[in-house]
Amino acid sequence: MKNIEIINGDITELDVDVIVNAANETLLGGGGVDGAIHEKAGPELLKECQSLSGCPTGEVILTESYNLIAGAIIHAVGPKWGGGQNNESDLLESCYFGALELALEHGFRTIAFPNISTGIYGYPKIEAAITATSAVKSFEDLAEFEKVIFCCFDEENYKIYSSIL
Ligand code: ADP
Repeated sequence: MKNIEIINGDITELDVDVIVNAANETLLGGGGVDGAIHEKAGPELLKECQSLSGCPTGEVILTESYNLIAGAIIHAVGPKWGGGQNNESDLLESCYFGALELALEHGFRTIAFPNISTGIYGYPKIEAAITATSAVKSFEDLAEFEKVIFCCFDEENYKIYSSIL
């Protein structure tokens, strides 16, 4: 698929219409990519997030991007890995579908995803990559995007995504 790209890098540096954050249900910041996004975006992001009433697992919410180069942020709350019998793959898939839908609703044409749930939330990387790539590839309106980027931060995820796609 011509508009799907894999990169190895820091999502906070990307010049795209919207980046996706791997957030938690409180939306009040955390470690990993969430911490990096809040740090670069600045304190106004936390203020906006505090005005929202959280976000359930598997769902997404849009905020401004403040000091980031990217134009907006979609916060997606991935599932915590609990062994695979707790609907984890459906919830993870729902983050990718939800983010793509919300992005198109707002006219965004370039979007970058981190490897949601594969850090602190402990989702096995290969399984997460299979779910993420299948979700994006099967998204009905994928052709409307100019670019969908899988932004891998670690070499292992980059290799996994490269071998799958
Ligand atoms: P989760 O709680 O959803 O597991 P994490 O932020 O802990 O979220 O990890 C999700 C993924 O984001 C991991 O693969 C981690 O390596 C990656 N990550 C961490 N920092 C960045 C960053 N600055 N840019 C892109 N990806 C990042």
